[in-house]
Amino acid sequence: MVGLYVCGPTVYSDVHLGNCRTFISFDIIYRYLLHLGFKVRYVRNITDAGHLESDSDHGEDKISKKAKLSQLEPMEIVQKYTVGFREVMNTFNVLPPSIEPTATGHIIEQIEMTKKILERGYAYEVNGTVYFNVEKYAAEQAYGQLSGRNLEELLDNTRDLDGQNEKKGRLDFALWIKAKPEHLMQWPSPWGMGFPGWHLECSAMSTKYLGEQFDIHGGGMDLVPTHHTNEIAQNIGYCGKSPARFWIHTNMLTVNGQKMSKSLGNSFLPHELISGNHALLKKGFSPMCIRFFMLMTHYGSTLDFSNDAMEAAEKGFARLIESRRTLDQLHASPNSSVNLTELQQKCYNAMNDDFNTPVLIAQLFEAVRIINSAANNKEQLNADDIQLLKKIYQHFLVDVLGLQAELENDKSREALNGVMNYLISLRNDAKQRKDFPASDAIRNHLNSIGIQIKDNKESSTWTFQ
Ligand code: AMP
Ligand code: ZN
Repeated sequence: MVGLYVCGPTVYSDVHLGNCRTFISFDIIYRYLLHLGFKVRYVRNITDAGHLESDSDHGEDKISKKAKLSQLEPMEIVQKYTVGFREVMNTFNVLPPSIEPTATGHIIEQIEMTKKILERGYAYEVNGTVYFNVEKYAAEQAYGQLSGRNLEELLDNTRDLDGQNEKKGRLDFALWIKAKPEHLMQWPSPWGMGFPGWHLECSAMSTKYLGEQFDIHGGGMDLVPTHHTNEIAQNIGYCGKSPARFWIHTNMLTVNGQKMSKSLGNSFLPHELISGNHALLKKGFSPMCIRFFMLMTHYGSTLDFSNDAMEAAEKGFARLIESRRTLDQLHASPNSSVNLTELQQKCYNAMNDDFNTPVLIAQLFEAVRIINSAANNKEQLNADDIQLLKKIYQHFLVDVLGLQAELENDKSREALNGVMNYLISLRNDAKQRKDFPASDAIRNHLNSIGIQIKDNKESSTWTFQ
C-alpha cells in the first residue's frame, strides 16, 4: 500500500484557483498510482482549528475570526466552506481522498503527541502553552533541511515578535496554545484550556492513519519553510522517525508573476473563471479546460495565469477532444504505418519521470496528429492500432489526467455516432438518387445545430463546428 498525505485547506473562506492547482496536482499523482495498480491510502485533512492568522503562534484563529465577523458558530463556517471545497473539487473532477480527517476530530491524538514530545524532552511548557524546543532538537539533528537552510540563517531571518518572550528560543513553535477566555474553540488538556498548533494536526493525523513513516507527504511549496519543517521536527521528537520517505511540493499559481493569494487581492474563485465574471477575465472557460490548462505545466514550475494562455489551452483541449470523436469514425486499414506501442511507452515514461504531465500531453498530441493523418489517408491504422489508441485515450486522458467529464460518456457518444452515421447514409442515398434538395436539407440542418459534414473521396465524416 502507498501512503499519501496532503495538507488540505483551512476552511475559513472559498478555495481560490491557486489552492485548486495544488489539489489537482496531487489528484494526478493519486490517479497515476491507482492506474499502476497500487493500493493507495490517500489522507487529505481539513484544517478546522488552530491555523492562526500569522501562520504561526500569534494572532486570531482564522476560522474563529470569520465566525465572529459573520456572527456564526465556528462550526457553521467550517461546514459552509468544507461543503464548498468539496463541490469545487467535484467540479474539477478531483477524486475524493480515502480519509478526510479534521483537526477538531483529533484533539486527543494531538494532546497525546504533545505529551510524548514533552516526555522525550523536546518540548517545554510555559504558562499553559507547550513549545517545541528547536535549538535543543537542532543540537542533535538537522533542522530546516527541507528548505535547505541552516539554523543560523533561520535565526537571522526570524524577528522577535509579541508574545515570544516566553519562548526559550526564537524558532520555537507552539504544539499546544493556551486559550484566552474569549477564544471560541478551546479544549481541556493537561496544561489547561487551549487548542492545538496548526503544524501538530498534520503530524497527529498522518501518524494515526498512515503510521510513523509513510511514502509521500505533499502540499504547496509555501508550506516548506515552516509547516513541513516543523512537522518533521515534531515527528522526530515524537518517535525518532521523519514522517515521509518523499516530499512533493507543488509550485504556485501566479497572476502577472505574483503568487495568487487572497491577501494580495489577485485571486479569483473557480466559479468566476468558469463564468468569466471577474474584472481580470475576458471570458469564461469550462472546468475541464481549466484543469487541462493547469496540467500543461509541470507541478514543480510556477504557472502564470493569463487570458491568452487560457485561450490557447482551450483551443488545444478542443483539438484533443475532437480527435477522440474522429477516432470513433476511423475505418481500419489492413496495414499499419505507425508504432503505437512506442507511443504508449512514451506516455508511461512521461508519468514515470516525476509525473510530467506536459510531456504526457505532448505525446497525446502526437496521437492527435496520427488520428488526423489517418482520417486524411496519410497514415494507416489497422484494427489493433485503433484499439490501442482508444486504450491510450482512456488510460491517460480519462483515468490519469481526469479529463473525462468533457468526453461524453461512452454510451451517449456511441449513440450519437450511430445517429450521425445513419443521417450521413440517408444523405448519401439522396445524393445517389440525385435528390439534391433532400441531401442539402440534411447538411444545412446539421450546420444550423453546429455539426459539419466533411465529404472525402470515399466517405463522409462529421465534426462539431
Ligand atoms: P490553505 O487553505 O491556505 O492552507 O492552502 C491550501 C493549499 O493550497 C496549501 O497546500 C497551499 O500551499 C496551497 N496554495 C495556496 N496558494 C497557492 C497558490 N497560489 N498556488 C498553488 N498552491 C497554493
Ligand atoms: Zn499540514
